[in-house]
Amino acid sequence: MPPALDLSSLPLPALEQLVAELGEPRFRALQLFRWIHRAGATSLEQMTNLPLALRERLTTSAQLAPLTVAEQQESADGTRKLRLRCADGASIESVLIPRETKLTLCVSSQVGCALGCRFCATATMGLQRNLTAGEIVDQVYRANALRPADDRLTNLVFMGMGEPLANFESVATAIELLCAADGLDLSPRRITVSTAGVVPGIRELGHRLRQVGLAISLHATTDALRDRLMPINRRWPLAALFAALREYPLPRRRRITFEYVLLPGLNDSAADVTRLCRLLDRLPSKINLLPYNPCRTDQPDLLRPRAEQLETFAELLRARGLTATVRHSRGLDIAAACGQLVVTGAAATRHGFEHPFPGACRRMSRAGRARGAASTGAERTGQYVSTGAQPQRRDRSAQQFSDRLPAKPLN
Ligand code: SAH
Repeated sequence: MPPALDLSSLPLPALEQLVAELGEPRFRALQLFRWIHRAGATSLEQMTNLPLALRERLTTSAQLAPLTVAEQQESADGTRKLRLRCADGASIESVLIPRETKLTLCVSSQVGCALGCRFCATATMGLQRNLTAGEIVDQVYRANALRPADDRLTNLVFMGMGEPLANFESVATAIELLCAADGLDLSPRRITVSTAGVVPGIRELGHRLRQVGLAISLHATTDALRDRLMPINRRWPLAALFAALREYPLPRRRRITFEYVLLPGLNDSAADVTRLCRLLDRLPSKINLLPYNPCRTDQPDLLRPRAEQLETFAELLRARGLTATVRHSRGLDIAAACGQLVVTGAAATRHGFEHPFPGACRRMSRAGRARGAASTGAERTGQYVSTGAQPQRRDRSAQQFSDRLPAKPLN
């Protein structure tokens, strides 16, 4: 039997084709689309304005397979981490981050990750599989259903587990679904895709979704260090990455964000400042400096910088005319900060998967993987609070940013 069509992954024209094949009028597709992408419906039974006969026929060839919220943790700073279970049992994490007037959702694009960055906890999982477009959008709908009614999502970042540009088609389709006028109608300008430097994906993103924000995880100014920290650099070294960025069709007044995890003694020298200036010369850019969030006991040379080391490095960059902001970690106490997302043991299921960049990434040894994973907070399941715990109220001024996001969307 062919696998059932995943309804929440389908753009409107594909739903129209499906309902036409079932002999139904075209407007039924729009009703279906609104139930899934505007109302966040989790079952066909909820779609009460669709004829029962159509719902029954749909179940023979198609399915809705929503994510379920398996666990929720809330940080002392208000950051909330959700562990979500896919229909096949795989687990992923999304993080809701309140910051001043914004409420940002950080979503995952893959179960695990193939890239093997040395500083990242997700890398210890290896790649289990790509997420479907439906599983990506559903992270937004599940988070939307959990937050208080007057607290609206303002921003979406692809900075959770996985490399979004290694799963380009699902990520691009998900963004188009989220921005559809009959769905949540998100603004692409409030969505950021972060990449470790998948050059073909950067080009594709520029062609297909240039209004979406682009962030590059840079972390090093020489190929020698970047090769060591991020094996993907061996496939697309700095010259190839920056050639693609210089050709990127950036909309007017937009900048490329560069994430730079400060690793004392490795990438924080005066020479790094000079090289950063040269790399970013005349490229509309801003730099987010991040402290390394310790999560890899198998990498003892990676140290967390002190706050003043971050500030000093930022000042040196600013003195050279670059825009640099220090980003303080959020959700550190619940292992929800950058690079700390990992699902291990019984929470994860392994699937066979072909490596997208053969030869580019060294796989970690089994022992290394176990050591790295053992240090992360995701395993401390005793800390999880049960699903449905009441989240704290946030600053209501967030609403001014979120007119495009209906609190409880109606069909
Ligand atoms: N694969 C994509 C998406 C992940 S985004 C990318 O690399 O951009 C997660 C961000 O957190 C990336 O910038 C990543 O480099 C950074 N990060 C990973 N591990 C980290 C750690 N331990 N401390 C701080 N930042 C980390």
